[in-house]
Amino acid sequence: MTAQSTFPDPRQRYGSSVHNHTPSVTGTIFDVMRFAVNDGPGIRTTVFLKGCLLSCWWCHNPEGLHRGIEVAYRVDRCILCGECVDACPHRALALEETRVVRDEAQCVLCGSCADACYTEAQERIGRDISVRDLLQEILKDRVFYDESGGGVTFSGGEPLLQFDFLLAALLACKEQEVHTAVETSGLTSTEHLDRIRAATDLFLFDVKLVDEERHKRFTGVSNTRILENLRFLASAGAAVVVRLPLIPGVNDDDANIDALAELLAGLETIREVHLLPYHAGASAKYRSLGMRARMADARPLPRERVEAIARSLSARGYTVQIGG
Ligand code: SF4
Ligand code: SF4
Repeated sequence: MTAQSTFPDPRQRYGSSVHNHTPSVTGTIFDVMRFAVNDGPGIRTTVFLKGCLLSCWWCHNPEGLHRGIEVAYRVDRCILCGECVDACPHRALALEETRVVRDEAQCVLCGSCADACYTEAQERIGRDISVRDLLQEILKDRVFYDESGGGVTFSGGEPLLQFDFLLAALLACKEQEVHTAVETSGLTSTEHLDRIRAATDLFLFDVKLVDEERHKRFTGVSNTRILENLRFLASAGAAVVVRLPLIPGVNDDDANIDALAELLAGLETIREVHLLPYHAGASAKYRSLGMRARMADARPLPRERVEAIARSLSARGYTVQIGG
């Protein structure tokens, strides 16, 4: 069974010329996860696009923050063979006693070191891909989408940062009758969001903190535009699931939960909330990218607290799911 879109055929809105050029549109992704079950209905392929405007303290995908291709180094995989040092055309690497060090000023992120490294201690993060090639990857699992009511989810990073690529990929999926979801931080232009709205079946919209000052503190940006965009999608009747990452000591307090419930009370078309309990595990990724993990010592919330939050929102009429 193929999941059915509740939206009009996007070709009617954009015209067939969109399809004539979309296969060659190129974007930068850092992962394609097959058989994902937490990113929307059914069995899905989740495509992770690079680049994000937020810097959430708890981010699990630091490799999605920067828009461009990066090279990560995992010292625990390094056998100190020196192949990467020899392969670097810019003499940006040096072999020290216990590790390889990179001179960021010399490195042009060409990836030759990753190509030369047998153990994948040097790893290229991100690749450019055309919509045509991405669609081929997505369609490999079409039978599972059809059987489970699944499809493809575009995540990140913030997928709307690569607007042209995202729109082209959504339209290509739509043409193949593949159900689509877009996971977004909501920080984008309302015009772009509206155009994506017409091309996708579902939004997974992250609402982290309702209080603006706390949002600024823990994500680096105001949530004014984000909440405006959520209201816009609600008023436009888009299919939206609100996702609340539950981060201990950041947004798991009653004040934030009450504020979220109050916010959603005014948005009658949005009635589903997914709670995503924080789990540790991204520290190695941060280290490999030379970044600091600000919540490395945080512990997951007790299950009882997560369930209490779920009950609190359910009691106010929302359909609540723990996990994506
Ligand atoms: S990415 Fe290229 S320039 Fe940078 S260290 Fe590796 S080989 Fe050298
Ligand atoms: S090629 Fe890989 S394993 Fe060898 S020194 Fe470089 S990073 Fe380490």
